[in-house]
Amino acid sequence: MFRQTKTVLAKLQNVRLKGLHLSWRRRSTAAAAAAAAGEKAHQYTAGQQIHGFTVKEVVAVPELFLTAIKLTHDRTGAQYLHAARDDPNNLFSVQFRTTPMDSTGVPHILEHTVLCGSQKYPCRDPFFKMLNRSLCTFMNAFTASDYTMYPFSTQNAKDFQNLLSVYLDAVFFPCLREQDFWQEGWRLENEDPADASSPLVFKGVVFNEMKGAFSDNERLYAQHLQNKLYPDHTYSVVSGGEPLAIPDLTWEQLKDFHATHYHPSNAMFFTYGDLPLEQHLKQIEQEALSKFERIQTNTRVPSQPPWASPREERVTCSPDAMAPDAARQSTLCVSYKLGDITDTFEAFTLSLLSALMTSGPNAPFYKALIEPKIGTDFSSVVGYDGSTKEASFSIGLQGIAECDADKVKNIIRQTVDSIIESGFEDERIEALLHKTEIQIKHQSSNFGLSLASYIASSWNHDGDPVELLQINNSIREFRRALQENPRFLQDKVQHYLKENSHRLTLSMSPDDSYLDKQVSAEERKLREKIAALSDSDKKDIYEKGLRLLAAQSETQDASCLPTLKVSDIAPTLAATPLHMTKAGGVPLQLCEQPTNGLVYFRAMCSLNTLPEDLKLYVPLFCSVITKMGCGSLDYRQQAQQMELKTGDMSVSPQVIPDCAHMDVFEQGVLLSSSCLERNLADMLQLWAEIFNSPRFDDPERLRVLVMMSAQELANGISYAGHVYAMTRAGHLLTPAGELLETFDGMDQVRFMKRIAEMSDLTPVLRMLPRIKKHLLNPENMRCAVNATPQGASESVLHLENFMTDVAGKRKRFKAVRPNVIQRPLDVNNISGACKTLVADSNFQPCHMKTFFQLPFPVNFVSESIRTVPYSHKDYASLCVLARMMTAKFLHGEIREKGGAYGGGAKMAGGGLFSFYSYRDPNSVQTLSAFGKGVDWAKSGKFSQQDIDEAKLSIFSAVDSPVAPSSKGMSVFLSGITDEMKQRHRERLFDVTRGNLLDVAERYLSVGSKTYGVSILGPENDAIKKDPSWVVK
Ligand SMILES: [Zn+2]
Repeated sequence: MFRQTKTVLAKLQNVRLKGLHLSWRRRSTAAAAAAAAGEKAHQYTAGQQIHGFTVKEVVAVPELFLTAIKLTHDRTGAQYLHAARDDPNNLFSVQFRTTPMDSTGVPHILEHTVLCGSQKYPCRDPFFKMLNRSLCTFMNAFTASDYTMYPFSTQNAKDFQNLLSVYLDAVFFPCLREQDFWQEGWRLENEDPADASSPLVFKGVVFNEMKGAFSDNERLYAQHLQNKLYPDHTYSVVSGGEPLAIPDLTWEQLKDFHATHYHPSNAMFFTYGDLPLEQHLKQIEQEALSKFERIQTNTRVPSQPPWASPREERVTCSPDAMAPDAARQSTLCVSYKLGDITDTFEAFTLSLLSALMTSGPNAPFYKALIEPKIGTDFSSVVGYDGSTKEASFSIGLQGIAECDADKVKNIIRQTVDSIIESGFEDERIEALLHKTEIQIKHQSSNFGLSLASYIASSWNHDGDPVELLQINNSIREFRRALQENPRFLQDKVQHYLKENSHRLTLSMSPDDSYLDKQVSAEERKLREKIAALSDSDKKDIYEKGLRLLAAQSETQDASCLPTLKVSDIAPTLAATPLHMTKAGGVPLQLCEQPTNGLVYFRAMCSLNTLPEDLKLYVPLFCSVITKMGCGSLDYRQQAQQMELKTGDMSVSPQVIPDCAHMDVFEQGVLLSSSCLERNLADMLQLWAEIFNSPRFDDPERLRVLVMMSAQELANGISYAGHVYAMTRAGHLLTPAGELLETFDGMDQVRFMKRIAEMSDLTPVLRMLPRIKKHLLNPENMRCAVNATPQGASESVLHLENFMTDVAGKRKRFKAVRPNVIQRPLDVNNISGACKTLVADSNFQPCHMKTFFQLPFPVNFVSESIRTVPYSHKDYASLCVLARMMTAKFLHGEIREKGGAYGGGAKMAGGGLFSFYSYRDPNSVQTLSAFGKGVDWAKSGKFSQQDIDEAKLSIFSAVDSPVAPSSKGMSVFLSGITDEMKQRHRERLFDVTRGNLLDVAERYLSVGSKTYGVSILGPENDAIKKDPSWVVK
């Protein structure tokens, strides 16, 4: 499904504790709730037998407000962990150790094919169908290097049972039909399946997905690094599949892999939440485990034998047209093999040590590698990575000149030596432990899922997941170790980095002919496969292709699947009480929430008075304003204070469409920050200094930050290409769309590339104070605080002081655009404070087709249509239509038939109805699939069941849990109140077949000037020859 890439995994592991965000308890206060969940769970005792399982251990974990119950299934040996916690967002996950020994992508293709139908649920693609029959808050599957995981979460008990049944049947009793293997894995097929004389080509979802994945150079580098650091077993192969090795996989091999790996004796089950454990155990035993006997598994990963001497390797990649500096596109990093991740305390220590060495401007590797500007940023893999059986630590740079390789190696060596000599300041260690405390307290909206991925790797190698949850034990032990031996951390560096001969230096450089070589390698592979075919084989392929197409086009009967009904959806929304007040004359929204003692402070600052020529610089301003130093603090001291006193402080540009008018929007920047209650005054002091005396005097510091953001933007295109395509397609359709392209679109990517290429940044530096005086101005500001009742009332006083501190910055400027509209912040108090929106009543939407030629083997395609805003009566119908078209038509056309990784339609609050495809082998053909989707909708070939399913799917998003830190934000930012949400909710319930036919006809009939198109992709002859396209 949506494969979690190694880069993502590495980044997750790199900030391991970040994955641990608590979810809130909505039913009662924190302490009482923890006690209630604990009480229930404590009724279990070790040795107790329940539904074929034996309880092994019951452990309270007070720091996470949960009780962990560890069990084993008696007959099969399946492992089970339940985390009882008073959180209604329940999670289930089953994980198998999958350790392939070749790069055919067998675990990944299996992950896809088990979701294509099972014994009890033999309809095609039950997994995707359940998305429309459930109120799940999460449903997905991942293939990691050494395990495959199937998690889902939901707040509805009936839904939990339904999904559990489908998941169990999928993984243990899948059909694994040959046709599923062709569709999801790979196949040879006529380019046009209906035409036997058209050339044979490779097709298949995973085949295309992996071609797309390897077009991302960061991903490619991470893959090579892992393969070469652990060359003797499963980590030496590509578990997701190397595109040209995928066609070596047979259907038989796939079925074998399933039989040996997807067995209870090789399985780990995890459940989380407030539903009773016993019911889960009963269902799992009855529907799956009772049908198996224990087998001897052979999936353990052995330790990698250590090397006698360090190694060095080189690889190549495709050049990056968006690279901030074309002459500097190499990556070099040194990677060290560390200890086993099942040693919980050692892993905890090494991940903290890694953060001390690499994160933030006070870290020694940041000072030594980033600040001399030899490269643009750290290498894509950096720091501690605990996603393999033995962990690794990596350090290096991307965006370097090839000739600087030795320099980088020398710096790494010298930095290791200097860390061993001087260690770390106590204050930095304290700052890091403070950060850990905040991360444990911060509550995310899907805590069960965070836990599942947090424990997955260690548990996969028989580590103790319960030990991993007891973070306070690790923190205590860490403090004790430091006290006993002040050189504790330095000794680790000496042992793991200095004296470690199992280290790999890997460099990667662009090769201009890289893509050509890939294309010819694929052609060679194709010729080989075709040469081996007889005439009757070819005829067979043609017929199979027709059969697959026919199967994909068949109307599908999903009635075997369980489903919730529209009547299972709560008719009304739970309200979020807000309190509107003022602090120092500035409007303030207070939202009391169980935040575990954290305060979340935000401020929205309008940019209506900012001169137009400065707009392009706003995202740059946002990304540097908290990182350049302020008042008496230089940027290092500022970073240190932020780590010691806050969870984070950041600024981001905002383009917020109005709910009522298409040509009205708000433009601004949002200040976001969080801290422990006791630190609020200190945090506001830091903000005050940023307002009063930010430092814009260091062009070298600015260059470092510019390089890093330009690199990040360039790297982002290959995985968020569809977002760039949608932003572009909509950019001439509304005034807000235009500004969005300026802030977040390809325009911004190119602008940042130009800035990064400038030899002198002084002119840019001079822009920053000009922007500052318009943006950081109490005159144009409103604030919001989310905190506990006590924290909220105290925050008002602190904010008054803050407003006094920054009062000198209060200035009135004239709005740049003449047409401004005032909207009350509080709809119930229209004489109260207002926010200012921009109106463009003369706006004329324009049609434009833009093609961005990029060095990718796949396309991202989008078409956007101007429709109606959030509060219009047709908005709900368009939402249901987009969801239904995606599930019932576009998914089949774009993914199943077209071979793209994904595609569909969505309706956005700004009133743009957008089609998109993701990692798509097709380009203009996909545009005609969008058109066919509209015809399909207008023809009314859908049933009441289809409409109900679309509604369920929308409500699972509408009702997905919102973390306490984010409650009330839709009022604060967009002015969407609970009453407006309730009205939208009722309209969603009321959408009829007639409404859908009506809106499809009135809004989606193309031919008017109200739509735009954009494609990002490789060189495209058809588009080049067509003068209606603008090629960029
Ligand atoms: Zn996949």
